[in-house]
Amino acid sequence: MAHNLYLFNTLSRQKELFKPIHPGRVGMYVCGPTVYGDAHLGHARPGITYDVLFRLLKHLGYKVRYVRNITDVGHLENDADSGEDKIAKKARLEELEPMEVVQTYTLRYHEAMQKLGVLPPSIEPHASGHIIEQIATVQKILDAGYAYISNGSVYFDVDKYDREHHYGVLSGRVLEEMKANTRELDGQDDKRAPYDFALWKKAAPEHIMHWPSPWSEGFPGWHLECSAMGEKYLGTEFDIHGGGIDLMFPHHECEIAQNVASRGTQGVHYWVHNNMITINGEKMSKSKGNFISLDEMFAGTHPLLTQAYSPMNVRFFILQAHYRSTIDFSNDALLAADKGLKKMLQAVRDLKGLQPAAGSAPIAEIAELEPRALDALTDDLNTPGALSVLFEAVKWVNAAKDHTASLCQEDIDRLQVLFKDILEDVLGIQDTQSSDGGAKVISGLMDMVLDIRRSAKAEKNWAVSDKIRDDLKSIGIQIKDTKDGCDWTITE
Ligand code: ZN
Repeated sequence: MAHNLYLFNTLSRQKELFKPIHPGRVGMYVCGPTVYGDAHLGHARPGITYDVLFRLLKHLGYKVRYVRNITDVGHLENDADSGEDKIAKKARLEELEPMEVVQTYTLRYHEAMQKLGVLPPSIEPHASGHIIEQIATVQKILDAGYAYISNGSVYFDVDKYDREHHYGVLSGRVLEEMKANTRELDGQDDKRAPYDFALWKKAAPEHIMHWPSPWSEGFPGWHLECSAMGEKYLGTEFDIHGGGIDLMFPHHECEIAQNVASRGTQGVHYWVHNNMITINGEKMSKSKGNFISLDEMFAGTHPLLTQAYSPMNVRFFILQAHYRSTIDFSNDALLAADKGLKKMLQAVRDLKGLQPAAGSAPIAEIAELEPRALDALTDDLNTPGALSVLFEAVKWVNAAKDHTASLCQEDIDRLQVLFKDILEDVLGIQDTQSSDGGAKVISGLMDMVLDIRRSAKAEKNWAVSDKIRDDLKSIGIQIKDTKDGCDWTITE
């Protein structure tokens, strides 16, 4: 592998050379959405960030098993151990089965991710489909002495764990400080300490999602699913765990504690966290009226937007910032990204029609563009750095168009490979306008070809009409004669 990959590891708080556990193979786990509402901008950022990491790893020649889960049980309203389950609440309000809510929003999430050019993960496990594995993990933690049963619920014993390990190793928090800052238990609580977290919760009578367990009819704590499913699909230790920075504490901190308690290892070698999106400088929230769903974004129907923004525009905008910085979304920033993306894609199209200049030698700077773009991407996913290299390529294309630079065939080929490898394959930017245009051209051509065949048939020129049919078939286009003419379909 020509390029070394460096990743900022939240655990060590520094950039580290990436060394996979098994040579040539990477196991990656990313916390996916809790599926109880429309996909929004907050989903787009981790979706795209880890998609680029997935694509980059593959580009570097690794075989990647990418697991991104669906949270469909146990994520309570206030992210802690109380409140209603987010999915159960939606089901109650809309008079649906919880799994109808899960199905609806999982499909919508998939649709939005597909539009954004996010590749599907290798495995997408649902928490509700892994109750048995989660119960087994709870049992292991109990057996190891790091949990206690209280009124049918099971809680993780943070004090005990912290005496032997370090609770806070990921987030840098110190338990003594947490103790000072947490509320006192009100005496009604089943927990011994306010910072203990649920591994299993006994279901209240009104709670509609529950399963049998050795402790009670209940449901797993939210943090547990990622420990259990990560181990099931990637093993007791795996390479990369990603997620939004808001998940670092308590979700990922608890995951590490559960891993150590149940299997004697922290489990994850590189923790990667993407930063948040703000909207006009403010945190996105429904109460502030700045909550923009991806559908509203693509249709331009939100009051904060002056126009519709294509999924590729949103993707390009997100890639213009480094994943560890916050991004501020605003209509103006999107308009600027729209301009940049159009300029880039126009250059890609122009390059296709560019004629090489006779007698000119290859340009050294052009040969360096792809290694430079990869240097940026392998330096902790520096996507803005890679885009700025691609904009240098745009300048070369435009200079050749204006005849202020002479590009030979080798230069043109290199630029084409650069756009294909870096812009399309790794950054996942697709020229949807051009592919729509392509469909229009194909349909125009087919009209023309079928018109010729119709004339041939009218003249009883069967040789020509059959040849058209057979030749189309050999390139994967099936035509079928109908009452009022002819239908065609692409078969491969
Ligand atoms: Zn998770």
